Amino acid sequence: MYREHVLAGQVALVTGSSRGIGLAISRLLGEMGAKVSTCARDQSALEESASKLRGSGIKVLATQADVTHEDQVCYLVRKTQQTLGPIDILVNNAGIGIFGSFLDQSQADWDAILNTNLKAVFLVSRAVAPEMIRRQTGHIINISSLAGKNTFANGAIYCASKWGLMGLTGCMAEELRAHGVRVSAVCPGSVATEFSGQGAKDPSKMLQPDDVAHAVAALATQTPGSFISEVQMRPTRKP
Ligand code: NDP
Repeated sequence: MYREHVLAGQVALVTGSSRGIGLAISRLLGEMGAKVSTCARDQSALEESASKLRGSGIKVLATQADVTHEDQVCYLVRKTQQTLGPIDILVNNAGIGIFGSFLDQSQADWDAILNTNLKAVFLVSRAVAPEMIRRQTGHIINISSLAGKNTFANGAIYCASKWGLMGLTGCMAEELRAHGVRVSAVCPGSVATEFSGQGAKDPSKMLQPDDVAHAVAALATQTPGSFISEVQMRPTRKP
């Protein structure tokens, strides 16, 4: 699909990469030659997925980190830079969803979703961007959602987080483009992962994690003079 070593020598940090979309992104960027820094809260799941990536010949640094905590974000970024080198590609992927009527949802639900899907992107990007600015190059790719473009019943807090993420992404893109740093949002519809669970949808007609990884790979290999600011993704055949 891509020239195998097109990202050779580059470093990619992918948040929330022990499973699902983040793991697929890590694998594809690694297959394209990037050294990959992965993270998640559950250390054993993270180590298991990292050893599978290493088994495919990918250079992986796996760090247990909760990206909603500033001190853990600083540790993750510093360790990545010291171990693998300066970060060329940041994929802000970690995200959670808790769905239901907003009337039944709690302040704790609000805090968990907003902290993970929105605040963490601010924290990680703010830790990574200064070095990209100094080097006048870099990609920041935020995994948003079609829920950041649309609204639906029982999605209030999740949609609010992803609409907020679209705003954050656009403002970051405007600030960083003058420094050669390109910021993009990827907005998939439903993807067949643990996140989406066993619902009414036919998984064979849903997006797959590899589809999202493909979009991220395309963004990370753009020609230097332009950038795709937003990608919306739908399955070819409707579920
Ligand atoms: P999964 O639940 O399958 O995976 C989420 C990953 O993020 C896990 O590795 C999880 O590990 C990690 N994670 C969650 N919270 C944190 C945290 N605070 N700090 C560090 N890591 C964390 O989700 P998906 O792969 O499906 O989703 C990935 C992204 O794609 C999310 O941003 C989601 O909103 C978005 N998306 C998903 C869609 C879908 O239908 N699946 C559709 C559109 C967008 P751990 O729990 O161990 O921390």
